Amino acid sequence: MSAEIASSFTAAPTRVVIIGGGITGLALARKLQESTAKAVEVTLLEAADVLGGNLRGEIIPSKFGDFIVDHGPDSWVIAKPEATALCRELGLGDALIETTEANRGVFLVHQGELRPMPEGLALGIPTRVRSLLTTDLFSWKAKARMLLEPLVPKGKWGDDVSVGEFLERRIGIEPTETLVAPLLGGIFAGDAYEISLKTAFPQFLADEKNSSLVRAAMKRRKMLAGKKPSAFHSLRGGIRQLVDTLAASLTKTAVRTGARAVAVARSTDSDSQNKPRWTVSTDAGESFPADHVVFTGPSWSSKPLLDAIDATLPWEQFQFGSAATAFFAFPRSAVAHSLQGTGFIIPKREGRGILAGTWVSSKWAGRAPEGTVLMRAFLGGKGNGALVDESDEVLASTGLAELRTLLGISGEPIFSRVYRFKDASPNPRPGHLERVKALRTALGKHPGLHVAGNGYDGAGIPDCVRQANTVAAQILAG
Ligand SMILES: Cc1cc2nc3c(=O)[nH]c(=O)nc-3n(C[C@H](O)[C@H](O)[C@H](O)COP(=O)(O)OP(=O)(O)OC[C@H]3O[C@@H](n4cnc5c(N)ncnc54)[C@H](O)[C@@H]3O)c2cc1C
Repeated sequence: MSAEIASSFTAAPTRVVIIGGGITGLALARKLQESTAKAVEVTLLEAADVLGGNLRGEIIPSKFGDFIVDHGPDSWVIAKPEATALCRELGLGDALIETTEANRGVFLVHQGELRPMPEGLALGIPTRVRSLLTTDLFSWKAKARMLLEPLVPKGKWGDDVSVGEFLERRIGIEPTETLVAPLLGGIFAGDAYEISLKTAFPQFLADEKNSSLVRAAMKRRKMLAGKKPSAFHSLRGGIRQLVDTLAASLTKTAVRTGARAVAVARSTDSDSQNKPRWTVSTDAGESFPADHVVFTGPSWSSKPLLDAIDATLPWEQFQFGSAATAFFAFPRSAVAHSLQGTGFIIPKREGRGILAGTWVSSKWAGRAPEGTVLMRAFLGGKGNGALVDESDEVLASTGLAELRTLLGISGEPIFSRVYRFKDASPNPRPGHLERVKALRTALGKHPGLHVAGNGYDGAGIPDCVRQANTVAAQILAG
């Protein structure tokens, strides 16, 4: 051991209190407790009785066998490497799975019917001219507009713009409303015309700057040389496998569930470098001294705690969308429609009661027993967020009625389940990342306070893990 490392271990350990036990808090706790460079004492406070935050799921037994049900998030984007790397560090490399190769297509509801989406139409950007020209999902005017995208002059956006405004200019209103708006409704439970492009799809801004979206997408397709790789990773045991394995690895962290942080206050004593120390109090009347406090809850839950320390912090006010999922299991024979795809999205103009559907057992191997299917209806989103306050019966019957009509389902489900995600999906507005930067700069006046999680630098699971890694590195370097 070097003299520096030895002396850091003889010094008093750095005490870190993490508020929130979602993926951000859990990944952060692990990174800190694994540190060999610095002695760190980590306490993690989670208000709920279970860890994982939005990463929820369960195994539902039936006479056919077990179903693996991911209540909400079921996977993450492979292109952002942090979540996959975390799984490998946790020894879950062999449990990583990709979407089933034969079922990677997506369907679209068009005039009340399910229609396969033209191949290569990733996020509304055409990469195969022939499949675009032969589909009747778009008018000729819309097709021409999409193909002429390379000729559209760059927008004068400045640094950021809404996803809807950007795509409407680049590829036209029809594909934006048909393809991109419903997709964003699903991801953010929000409105494409309100969500920051730089936060949601930074690649698009770069593509526009470098050449054009169509040219960049075609180049990427050519590089794949005919292969259709999965864009997503999940785990054989469902998304809970990540949370459970991560939680089990926290052997050197004091984990408190059912412990809501209700106040964070500056302590009167200071550490040897004269930095302020903090005290975090919980609703159970406990208090924890800390050199660092990391707020990983949704930003609306962290704001009041931080406002009490400094009411001048420049918080960005943005909405968190609400959504619900309704799951149904059926014998395969009860469903008339082909289920060869990951599921379908529904443009708003179709006026249906759900936003999208996922054919869970087609998308992932091992989620449903042989001879059965598991499917999910997605409800809520912009303007429909109040739906999550409806009863389970209303949500289940709305979801089931839509799936029945679209897929030709007969008979009663083996089981149905409803799950709610209230105020869970951030809808970052244009300029979001700049405002987060300003918040972090202002927090610098209060050494030891940090924010991380889905309300800040990206909302996907890998974004959350990346933020956890960044904060861990800052604490360990301090
Ligand atoms: C329906 C849905 C589907 C999604 N699908 C995907 C997907 O497929 N892929 C993907 O990459 N992402 C997906 N996401 C996004 C992703 O799941 C989330 O952004 C991510 O899980 C957020 O993790 P987090 O730890 O930052 O926050 P959270 O999961 O919100 O966890 C924060 C935790 O902090 C706790 N907390 C809050 N305040 C306090 C307090 N005062 N004291 C103690 N504890 C507190 C909360 O109880 C919570 O457990 C989805 C999100 C939703 C809602």
